[in-house]
Amino acid sequence: MDGDMSDAARTLETAAVLEAARRFVERDVSPRVADMERRGAQAGELLDKMRKLGLFGMAVPTEYDGLGIDLETLARLMEIIAQGWTTLAAYLNSHTTVCHIIAAHASEAQKRRYLPCLARGEPRAALCLSESGAGSDLQAIRTRARAVDQGYRIDGGKVFVTNGEQAGLLLVLAKTDPDAAPAHRGMSLFLIEKSLAGVHVGGRFDKMAFEHVDTCEIAFQDAIAPSDALLGETPGKGFGQLLDGLELGRIEFAASAIGLGQAALEHSLRYARERVTFGHPISDHQAVQLELAAMATKLMAARTLTLEAARQKATHGRADMPCAMAKLFASETAMEVALSALRIHGGYGYIKGYAVERLFREAPLYLVGEGTNEIQKLVIARRLLESVA
Ligand SMILES: Cc1cc2nc3c(=O)[nH]c(=O)nc-3n(C[C@H](O)[C@H](O)[C@H](O)COP(=O)(O)OP(=O)(O)OC[C@H]3O[C@@H](n4cnc5c(N)ncnc54)[C@H](O)[C@@H]3O)c2cc1C
Repeated sequence: MDGDMSDAARTLETAAVLEAARRFVERDVSPRVADMERRGAQAGELLDKMRKLGLFGMAVPTEYDGLGIDLETLARLMEIIAQGWTTLAAYLNSHTTVCHIIAAHASEAQKRRYLPCLARGEPRAALCLSESGAGSDLQAIRTRARAVDQGYRIDGGKVFVTNGEQAGLLLVLAKTDPDAAPAHRGMSLFLIEKSLAGVHVGGRFDKMAFEHVDTCEIAFQDAIAPSDALLGETPGKGFGQLLDGLELGRIEFAASAIGLGQAALEHSLRYARERVTFGHPISDHQAVQLELAAMATKLMAARTLTLEAARQKATHGRADMPCAMAKLFASETAMEVALSALRIHGGYGYIKGYAVERLFREAPLYLVGEGTNEIQKLVIARRLLESVA
């Protein structure tokens, strides 16, 4: 939304964006999820509708044809979409993080080249950070970008690239100075078009959930990228640019986990009203009521924390502690709520075709993705201890 808009106009536009997303989920997503999951059907038609709603441009400013929404609205949107179908949120997560990093750190020419088409979701973007020997410890990556006459020669192998098969634009973390100390000073980000010679999409990981979303390996072998593929204009800034993006990624992940939890709660509420034991709907049993109350309370706490993290990130630019807290708490909450939902469904919670069975398999991704929860705790502890140094 436009930077010069009045508060009232902004409030109206925000409400309209959220309402359009809710309508999309209610009409187009919710009635079809069970069938699409069962058939393993591709989500192409839903992706087209998401494109029309501008959802791929959530983190793209209006001057580059994006929605330009504030971060709290972005978090609310991610929750709405994930509540409808977590898979759709997974299509948006890293794409949105890449858009944010480009909008915040790219040169003007790079912004003009990539942001308008990313806002349309054509192409989609993927994040190439993790390697087989480096996930939590990204400063240990081995992918190299060597300066050559034509630009940079990139060599290395990335793993766990979400949407790597489908994406057309890759944001790649590489070492431009492997001898730098500390290592992060020698790291840079590159905008690599997947059609570049030397970029090879490898095997797909066979995951416990999210089967519709590809997660694959990508290798770079003598891939010569033009010099303007370096994000921004100065090498060695990539790690800081990335950490800024990962804070947004953690807000997106937290909001998606809350959407998953909210879906689990709503399935549980409906089931508790319908399922009869000992002559009563199980919702009459206080033990079930206590479980439902705990689920709703934890979700409300996670949502409040996530919106606060979004507010602090919007205000301060960098907000690693609240973003880590939101991702940590929301993902642990989603896991607990998904388990409660499975318990409430009794044996049926364990049976394929019941949404809570799928939600329970999906929830662990939010514990380990976007930086494991152990790493989030380390980020939080570091900031706490600094405050008393
Ligand atoms: C489905 C899926 C999608 C993904 N998508 C992407 C993507 O699009 N792009 C991308 O780049 N990556 C992606 N990832 C990778 C993900 O970010 C990493 O798996 C994650 O950061 C953890 O890295 P790792 O698997 O190497 O675990 P490791 O770093 O090997 O960690 C193993 C264990 O040790 C713990 N640990 C590690 N270091 C410490 C420490 N200092 N203190 C305490 N505990 C520690 C970790 O918390 C964890 O429990 C994805 C992963 C999955 C499963």
